[in-house]
Amino acid sequence: MHSLQNYGLSDTLTFDACQSAGEPAGYDAAIINILTTTATPATLFLGGLWMQRYSAQTQALAGNPLFELGNHSWSHPDFTQLGPAEMSAEIQRTQQLLLSLTGQQPTLFRFPFDRYTDEAVVVVGQHGLRAISGDVISGDPDPQVSARAMVQAITGQVDNGSIIIMHMNTRGEHTAEALPEIISQLREQGYTFVTVSQLLGLAPLPTSP
Ligand SMILES: [Zn+2]
Repeated sequence: MHSLQNYGLSDTLTFDACQSAGEPAGYDAAIINILTTTATPATLFLGGLWMQRYSAQTQALAGNPLFELGNHSWSHPDFTQLGPAEMSAEIQRTQQLLLSLTGQQPTLFRFPFDRYTDEAVVVVGQHGLRAISGDVISGDPDPQVSARAMVQAITGQVDNGSIIIMHMNTRGEHTAEALPEIISQLREQGYTFVTVSQLLGLAPLPTSP
């Protein structure tokens, strides 16, 4: 029986691809290149509008076994301001696009801005999804947060089982710059990177630590 304990310390890198209506977002290819060249698994929460814009990239990400894809709503609204029907529409439309682009039905959801109510969590569950927050906030959307500050903030906050929140929509101006150091420092501290589903015991672990 595999157990995460066999891996000692483990944690998860997550990257959100947020896009609101009328606010085109980017695709930070440098982040994906770093994760790929360092063989670092990650969970990517993709917005519906973002996937419409980056359909080919979404399909490539889905085909890469390092990455697990999750739902990050359609147009990135604040769920504390929505009624249940609007929440459902945001979730369902994104599920459908992910399924049609990738053939995969995600099981994980991240709330925009990490803001939610008890009712919102129930609605997410009704769609067969589990809401995933994070305990380590990189602060990466703030351009004032330098790569060095981000490395210090993340490596200082990480604990066993941590979920680290970053962005891959180019709002995180220094994320790619900081990422190689974050990965190498955490590996030196003994951490193994796994996906959210692996961290929660919902998916098989990698075969070798
Ligand atoms: Zn977001």
